[in-house]
Amino acid sequence: MQSEIVSTLDRARRFDTVLIANRGEIALRIIRACREMGLKAAVICSQADRDAAYVRAADQSICIGPAAAAKSYLNKDAILLAARLSGAGAVHPGYGFLSESAAFSAAVDEAGMVFIGPDAASISKMGDKIAAKNAMLAAGVPCVPGPDHELPSDPETIARIASEIGYPVIIKAAGGGGGRGMRVVPDAATLQESVTLTREEARKAFGTPALYMEKFLPHPRHIEIQVLCDSHGNAVWLGHRDCSMQRRHQKVVEEAPAPGIAHDLIGPVGEACVEACRLIGYRGVGTFEFLYEDGAFYFIEMNTRLQVEHPVTEMTSGIDIVQAQIKVAQGEVLQVAQERVSCEGHSFECRINAEDPATFMPSAGIITEFELPQGPGVRVDTHIEAGYKVSPYYDSLIAKVIVHGSDRRQAMERMRKALAGLKLEGIATNIPLLRVLFEDEGFAAGEADIHYLEKWLKKRSVA
Ligand code: ADP
Repeated sequence: MQSEIVSTLDRARRFDTVLIANRGEIALRIIRACREMGLKAAVICSQADRDAAYVRAADQSICIGPAAAAKSYLNKDAILLAARLSGAGAVHPGYGFLSESAAFSAAVDEAGMVFIGPDAASISKMGDKIAAKNAMLAAGVPCVPGPDHELPSDPETIARIASEIGYPVIIKAAGGGGGRGMRVVPDAATLQESVTLTREEARKAFGTPALYMEKFLPHPRHIEIQVLCDSHGNAVWLGHRDCSMQRRHQKVVEEAPAPGIAHDLIGPVGEACVEACRLIGYRGVGTFEFLYEDGAFYFIEMNTRLQVEHPVTEMTSGIDIVQAQIKVAQGEVLQVAQERVSCEGHSFECRINAEDPATFMPSAGIITEFELPQGPGVRVDTHIEAGYKVSPYYDSLIAKVIVHGSDRRQAMERMRKALAGLKLEGIATNIPLLRVLFEDEGFAAGEADIHYLEKWLKKRSVA
C-alpha cells in the first residue's frame, strides 16, 4: 500500500513540458537542459524580448506583457496562465525575478504544477534571516557571533548586546536582501541612531521592522557551498566557490574551488550544510553563503535557487546542476552519493555586463559584432548574438565566460585567452576591465578578500 502511494505521488510529479519563467542566458541554459532530457521547453517573454534567439529556440513562447518586469516577469497570474496555456507540468523560475518567492512556489503548487525549486515553507524560512540563522545553528552550521533572536526595542539591552559582541557590529533587517537593510556600527556613539534608521528603512522596504545584530568582520572572503537535495531525504554538497571579487555586493568573477582552503577545514562545514537541508526537508538546489576570515566560516544566508555562478561548479564536479535540479523536481532519487562527488581542476567565471567599464553606468543598444572565444576548456553562456538589442529594462548581465583548467594557473591563463578572443562591439561592456583584472598580481595570488576589487578600482581611477 505504502509503495503504491509513493509511486502515485511520483507519477503526479512527472512532466513533459517545462515553462521557463525567466529570460536571457538562464532561459537558454534551461532550454538546453530540457532538450537533453527529452523535455519540451516553453518560455514566457515580455514585448521587449519577443525577438530574442532563445525565444525562437523554445518549443513554444508566450508573450505575457510589456517590458517593465512588474508587468511581465514578476506578474504571477500572467505566468500561471501562460503555464496552463502551454500545457506545462512544471515551472522553472531561473534566478532573480520570482525564483525566491514563497508565494509563487505555493501558487504553482496550488495550480497543480511542479515548482522546480524548494517548497514555499523552505523559501520562507530561509528568506527570514533570523529563522535561517536558527535553522543553521540547529544543524551545527557555524554562524557570525551575535544573538539568534530579534533585537528588542529597549536601548539599554541593545547597547549591552553590542558590547557583548564587541564593536564593530552590523545591524541587519531580518527581511533584508540584495545588500540592502544593513548598517555597520563602529562604536557605541552611533549605535542607537543606526538602530532607529535601519528599523525605519526595514519597515518601509521589507514590510517588517525586525532587526538583528552580529559581529562585523573587517576583511572576510565570500565562500559558498552548493547543495543538491531530492525529496527523499538525500542531500549532497558539490564543493565550494569563492565569490570575493565583488563591486557593491555584486559578484563580478567567481571561481571553484575557493583557493587555499584545505578540505579538512571545509569538509565539516559542507556536511553541516547537508544536515541543515535534511532537517529543513529542503528539496532542489541551493547555496549556503559564508564569510571566511582567519580560518573560520560564518554563515550569512542561503539562496534557495539556482545561482548565476553555478557553471563553475558544473565544470569542476562534472554534474549538470540544472538537469539534476529538474530530476529531483520530478521526484527522482539522487543518483550521486557524497563519496562519489569529486571536484577536478579549477574553474573561473567572468560576468560580462553591458556597462561602462569606467563609470559602471548601464549601456543599452544594438550589438553590431559578436565573436565567441574558442579553445580547450572554454564555455560561454549567453543569449546574445550580432544584431541583438540590449534593453535598458533588465539586469546588465549579457554573457558569462567560463573556463576550466587542470589547476588555477592554467584556468587563469585560459581566461586571459578567452577574454582576448571575445569580440563584442556596439555597446560598452566591462570586458576591458576584466582583461586588466586577470593580469593583476594580487588577484592571481588568490585568497583576496571582498574589498579587494573596490580598492583595486579606486587605485586605477586615481592613477
Ligand atoms: P543580502 O541578503 O542583502 O545579500 P547578506 O547577509 O548576504 O545580505 O550580506 C551581503 C554582504 O554584506 C555580504 O556579502 C558581505 O559583503 C556583507 N556582510 C554581511 N554580513 C557581514 C558581517 N557580519 N561582517 C562583514 N560583512 C558582512
